[in-house]
Amino acid sequence: MADIIDFKSAAKNIQRKRAEDSKKSILCLEGHHKWQASKKKPFENKQGRLVTVYICKNCQREKTVLS
Ligand SMILES: [Zn+2]
Repeated sequence: MADIIDFKSAAKNIQRKRAEDSKKSILCLEGHHKWQASKKKPFENKQGRLVTVYICKNCQREKTVLS
């Protein structure tokens, strides 16, 4: 009995996770990325301006922002 309950809850968790993943990718497709500052240190570009790298938590896309 316990095995059946565990299996059902595991399957539910997988379904929920899949739903969350597809929701995330839809957000990214619509340009709503979850930007997080990269652990890389900000660096100076050719113009001597400070550049910070951001990475999307959902799709790992990178963007750079002048600060
Ligand atoms: Zn993204």
